[in-house]
Amino acid sequence: MPIYKAPLEDVRFVLNEVIGAAQLAQLPGYGEATPEAIDAVLEEAAKICEDLLFPLNQSGDAEGCTFEHGVVKTPPGFKDAYTTFCQGGWAGLSCDPEFGGQGLPTLLSLAIDEMVCSANLSFGMYPGLSHGAYNAIEKHATAELKKLYLPKLAAGTWTGTMCLTEPQCGTDLGLIRTKAVPQPDGTYKITGAKIFISAGEHDLAENIVHLVLARLPDAPPDIRGLSLFLTPKFIPDAQGKVGARNALSCGRLEHKMGIKASATCAMNFDGATAWLVGKPNQGLRAMFTMMNEARLAVGMQGLGVAEISYQNAARYAQERLQGRGLKGAVFPEKPADPIVVHPDVRRSLMTMRALVEGCRALAYSIGLELDIEARHVDPARREAAGQLVALMIPVVKAFVTDVGFDVANMGMQVFGGHGYIRDTGVEQYVRDARIAQIYEGTNGVQALDLVGRKMPDNYGRLMRQFFHPVADFLQAEKDNPALADMLPLFMSAFGKLQMSSLTVATRGVVNPDEAGAAATDYLRLFALVALGFMWLRMAKVAAEKLPQAGARAGFYDSKLKTARFFFSKILPQANALNLAILSGAKTVMDMPAEAF
Ligand SMILES: Cc1cc2nc3c(=O)[nH]c(=O)nc-3n(C[C@H](O)[C@H](O)[C@H](O)COP(=O)(O)OP(=O)(O)OC[C@H]3O[C@@H](n4cnc5c(N)ncnc54)[C@H](O)[C@@H]3O)c2cc1C
Repeated sequence: MPIYKAPLEDVRFVLNEVIGAAQLAQLPGYGEATPEAIDAVLEEAAKICEDLLFPLNQSGDAEGCTFEHGVVKTPPGFKDAYTTFCQGGWAGLSCDPEFGGQGLPTLLSLAIDEMVCSANLSFGMYPGLSHGAYNAIEKHATAELKKLYLPKLAAGTWTGTMCLTEPQCGTDLGLIRTKAVPQPDGTYKITGAKIFISAGEHDLAENIVHLVLARLPDAPPDIRGLSLFLTPKFIPDAQGKVGARNALSCGRLEHKMGIKASATCAMNFDGATAWLVGKPNQGLRAMFTMMNEARLAVGMQGLGVAEISYQNAARYAQERLQGRGLKGAVFPEKPADPIVVHPDVRRSLMTMRALVEGCRALAYSIGLELDIEARHVDPARREAAGQLVALMIPVVKAFVTDVGFDVANMGMQVFGGHGYIRDTGVEQYVRDARIAQIYEGTNGVQALDLVGRKMPDNYGRLMRQFFHPVADFLQAEKDNPALADMLPLFMSAFGKLQMSSLTVATRGVVNPDEAGAAATDYLRLFALVALGFMWLRMAKVAAEKLPQAGARAGFYDSKLKTARFFFSKILPQANALNLAILSGAKTVMDMPAEAF
């Protein structure tokens, strides 16, 4: 049976000792988000994840959602678990108290997302999508729509969806065909077919609020002609009581590789009544304002799956007895040594751990900047935070979801054949993790966003929000003996990133294929350096705390050992990536399209 224990010690370390989450309580509206209060919420979240959501993960995967005559049922136990989850206020954790939310920071909500996704990624999809819908409505809808819909979404009694994808249109939203026709009473009628809609239909909530991208009759034919519409499954009255069924339905459930307890639906809109959210033809802009948080949340899915994969692989490596240590028996009293003694198994475990802990620190640091961007009193600080967030979102989304899949895969390898057999539960993590690399903008498209939009923005204005703090840190710590063995390795990789940045930026101006061909390698190089920066910061704290750590000495010591592993065994990949980037686009583009 798989195990899961919320990694609270590491979460607290990152929040309190590395990124300084205590500053949240200084932000307007977050006065109650003190480290003590945050800790109490995390403890409660850990219990919900371990005791309520995790026990439904394997059964939910085995049983999946079912579809009969347009009705979708979630696997046994999900409805009760969802009710308990909502009664605990978890659906509205970071929602505005004006609409019944708890008004807690986005960072805290992201840390809890990580735990939810470890425990049960499929379950996490339902509140996750609702939160995206909440954010879009809160930022762009009329006061009337907000009053009617936001309290229900914050309470979780209604859930939300994002309806973008159509059969002919995935990445290229300009191809959307769904139509919206204005009605004399100010509403619209939506007609069209959407596919792959997460939580499109289910039995968890009394109503489902679809946010649909569609085209008005006179709209431009491309992405400039998209508008956003709120289209409820049941049309509510002014008091929020659900009424008549709207003209929309689920045509089928998609059969898919993983997240089987998440209902992925083909949705038909047959003249469904809808309300405009935001301005006509500004639908994409409305979606973009919530995209940063949504992409970070998908990064948390990768992190969550990576964490649980590591936990299970680490435990298995202690228990599974096979072979003897290369230098002789380590546990001669046993019939064989546990596989954790083998260098190759350790290589996997250390890689998994270094990536998981590094990604946690990186993702949380950007989560904190999201809160600062939204709330800081100083406009200059808000602007700087916004620039760093804009730069790092594609890096975090793509790299952390890649890590989610890679670590799940490594975890399966540690289990050997038993990992491939369903009983151990770890093959589910490989299947579940895979989708996070695809939706919310594929990772290839994230890389293009980084090199095509974020890097050239205002002559590198966003890039400086990352490069300058790193350079300042290096200057301040250049003589820190605790970092002496790590700094040269980091500086080498940082230099490679600077060189690659210049190359991609200058070549990309002349020939966009140069930037496009380098994009994925460049994003990975950027992410490794960003992880290296977080590992330096973590190592600095660990080295300072270790001498007086008492019972926590083991924690800090492990941190330093993992940091050293990262710098010596993972970060050197920066060299290869840099070489691949410098080699240019020619070998990528040389083959004529018809030769494939
Ligand atoms: C389980 C699941 C749940 C989903 N949930 C939702 C949901 O709730 N709402 C919703 O609207 N959608 C949802 N989606 C859809 C998802 O967001 C899309 O699948 C995704 O955006 C990619 O679109 P596509 O599948 O059409 O691939 P395509 O856009 O056809 O892309 C195919 C390949 O080409 C690459 N590519 C495409 N265009 C470019 C380009 N310009 N430059 C470089 N490479 C390019 C892509 O990276 C990809 O590798 C879901 C999908 C799945 C499988």
